[in-house]
Amino acid sequence: MKLIYCPQCGHQLVTKEIGGQLRRACPVCDYVHWSNESLGAGGVVIKDQQVLLVQRAQAPNKGGWTIPGGFVEQNETIRQAVVREVEEETGIKTEPIGIIGMSETRYLEEHNLYLGCKLRYVGGNLQPQISEVQQVKFVNLTELDQLPVADLSRKLIKLALTTDGLAHFEAFTNWHQHHFYY
Ligand SMILES: [Zn+2]
Repeated sequence: MKLIYCPQCGHQLVTKEIGGQLRRACPVCDYVHWSNESLGAGGVVIKDQQVLLVQRAQAPNKGGWTIPGGFVEQNETIRQAVVREVEEETGIKTEPIGIIGMSETRYLEEHNLYLGCKLRYVGGNLQPQISEVQQVKFVNLTELDQLPVADLSRKLIKLALTTDGLAHFEAFTNWHQHHFYY
């Protein structure tokens, strides 16, 4: 989708070369459309050697099983988003532990970053979000191997079961401060 009007002032945008690439820019104010990004997060919740999975009720991957998750809203942090999405989709309350891994997808019109997070089970009752989820359950590792689980979810679950690849949120916070102040 080509952006037509300036989201800052409403004037019609023009296409011009900025920073070596053709971009949509506003001839009136300083707005430049740099890129479209989206940020998603999913949560691996393990309870008594069982992992929380949802069966998708909507495309893409309708009928397939994944870890719960969704898009991060503009006004929330990744840790808030993943806890919210898990509770909305499954009824299960959790606390974030850290980031397991990430997946980066570049579409023609959008660049998506998805962070797989490890979450601590806190409580709640299994309650699928009817509009998005057909079923929700904790499955053991034998069931996990038998279900049609999305590749990325399967990878993140395997990583979450070890400590390898686990980066604590605190480490990210420190890195950010370091990066920012020096
Ligand atoms: Zn403008």
